[in-house]
Parts: sequence; C-alpha cells; structure tokens
Amino acid sequence: NRQFRLVSRPVGMPSNENFTLQEVDLPELQDGQVLVRALYISVDPYMRGRMSDAKSYIEPFPLDEVLVGGGVGEIVESKNERWQAGDVVVGQLGWQDYTVSNGRGLLKLDPSLAPVTTALGVTGMPGWTAYFGLLDIGQPKEGETVVVSGAAGAVGTIVGQIAKLKGCRVVGIAGDDAKCQYLLNELGFDATINYKTTDDLRAALKRACPDGVDVYFDNVGGEITDAVMSRINFQARIAICGQISQYNLEEPELGPRVFTQLLKNSALAKGFIVSDYAPRHKEAMLQLGQWVAEGKIKYAENIVDGLENSVEAFLGLFRGENIGKQLVKVSDL
Ligand code: NDP
Repeated sequence: NRQFRLVSRPVGMPSNENFTLQEVDLPELQDGQVLVRALYISVDPYMRGRMSDAKSYIEPFPLDEVLVGGGVGEIVESKNERWQAGDVVVGQLGWQDYTVSNGRGLLKLDPSLAPVTTALGVTGMPGWTAYFGLLDIGQPKEGETVVVSGAAGAVGTIVGQIAKLKGCRVVGIAGDDAKCQYLLNELGFDATINYKTTDDLRAALKRACPDGVDVYFDNVGGEITDAVMSRINFQARIAICGQISQYNLEEPELGPRVFTQLLKNSALAKGFIVSDYAPRHKEAMLQLGQWVAEGKIKYAENIVDGLENSVEAFLGLFRGENIGKQLVKVSDL
C-alpha cells in the first residue's frame, strides 16, 4: 500500500520536500471495518490550510501520517454488515491505494447514474459550496450582475452557471485565455477577465460590469477582490468562499480597507464553510444532479493519472493548471 504523508509543514509555497510517498503494510481488518480501494482522490485548496498548524476551522494534518481528503473508492473487503464488497463509495479517504474505514461518513454511489468522479466535483463538495454560497449569501436576482473570481475552477464554474440559471449577467475572472474562452463559449458567461494579462483590472471590471456588481463570489481575495469591491452596488452581497491568493503567503498582504465600501453601499459580506450547510447538503446534491441531467449545468474535470502524482496535482492548483475539478486517478473501477 503506497501512501503520501506530510513530513514537514510548508512555509510559503509547499514543495515535494514536505511530503513522502512510502510503502506500508495494510493492517488486519477488524470487525466493523471495510477496506476501500481508491479510484479517485480529490486535491483541494483548503488542504493547504491543514498543512499549517495555525488555528482554523479544521484540525491541522498530523505530521508523519497519511494525508486525508475526499475520495471515491470501491469496497474490496467488508467486516461491516452495512457494506459489501463491490460497493462504490465517496467519503474521506487517505492519499493511498487502500484505506481502512469504519464506514462512517461513506456514501454509496450508483455508477450507472453518473460518472463517479462527479461525486467529488459538481454534485459533491465543490458543487455544494457554489450552490449555498451563491444562493444563500449571494441571493442573485434576475438582471443583476454576478462576478466570480477563480471562475474556471471547481467551485467557480458552477457558481457562474447557477447565476446564469437565475437570469444574471455573469462575469468570470480567471488567469488564462483558454479558461476565459471556455467560460464564454461553453458555459455561457457574459464576460471574462484574464487577471494575469490585463494591465488595469479596475478598468476591465468597469467595462465588464457597466451596471456595477450586485453579487461577488470571492474565491481568491487579494488585489482581485480589492478591485471588485471598488465596483459594488448599493446593497451588494459578497460571499467570501476562499482566499487562494493568500494561502501561500508568509506574511498577510495588506490591501485597501474594504469596510468603507461595505458601509457606503449598505452591502453585506459573509464568510462561510460548506459544512455550515451540512443539514442541506442533500438538497444541493439532488438539485445539482438534476441540473446536470437536464444539461443545464456542465462540468469539467482535470484528471491526473497515478497516485504518485497527487502532490504535483495539488501544487498545480496554485499554478492554475486545472479547468474545473482537479482529481487524481488511482485505479480503474
Ligand atoms: P479551483 O478548482 O478553483 O482551483 C484553484 C484555482 O485558483 C486555480 O486553478 C487558479 O486558477 C486559481 N488561483 C490559484 N492561485 C491564485 C492566485 N494567487 N490568485 C488568483 N487565483 C489563483 O479550486 P476550488 O474550486 O476547489 O476552490 C476555489 C476556492 O474556494 C478556494 O479558495 C477554496 O479554498 C475555496 N473553497 C471554499 C470552501 C468553503 O467551504 N468555504 C469549500 C471549497 C472550496 P487561475 O488560472 O484562474 O489562476
């Protein structure tokens, strides 16, 4: 059983030296346990936070232990009466070939209904994040302008499409021309801005949002957010979902004070964690599944092959290598 462990806490951008891939023996299965063979593991930006030991909403990863995250796998052996060999499940799995689980938190998937990878993306955690952040905090109304940063990623692609379904003008900010083309041509965004090539983000926002910004779904923070905040309308709503531009900084970045913007515009900014909505996850899963089945929401996946490439796939998130959900394929179903 190959497994990735965190061996030191990254300072700034993580590197391969912070991780080891090692071979370990599988423990004997105890009563109540199941053995899950990994099919896909999910790499997610929030894991960067868990690699540090700063206080957060979730415990740091312990050093010298296997990294754990979302994954899809097949139960290959069961000593738990709820589960049978052959069941395909989504839940928390290690970054390893095989995970021993007590079965808690696993959800059974029906591979004939949808590709199993969707349970880690559009109908899974990133999809729920988009759904609740946009609809509950953003409250988009028909005809309003919604701006989403990190627009071409797992969460951002879904945010933009739900906003289109609600009749909004949707503007996506992403760091690559091919991503912007995808958002415009495939997902129906109204305008996009490549923040890496534009020399004046505020001017680009002014052109893309002639009527200002009513809802801002923030995945990135930093200068992009400073610029969007300068364009918000009266009673705008800002869903603070992620701040990826800040995750690898050694010192916090200081920017313009946005509170004046909130004050002047009677605007609301609210942070949230997808787990705040745990009692309603099923609602999001069903609604997103229906939209996908009806062809109203499309999804993209960027799949890297081989468990041994998990760290590179994770680091690729910070280099913007993915369109849609970044996954690692570990084995075939
Ligand atoms: P993505 O699929 O969006 O992948 C990350 C993307 O972020 C990259 O592709 C890259 O795209 C962009 N990015 C990386 N570095 C920077 C930077 N310095 N400045 C601007 N953009 C950058 O990831 P997810 O969709 O999974 O997550 C998106 C955000 O949502 C993250 O901040 C994450 O932490 C947060 N999140 C929050 C949750 C919650 O419960 N609150 C739950 C899930 C995610 P590009 O080419 O455009 O730069």
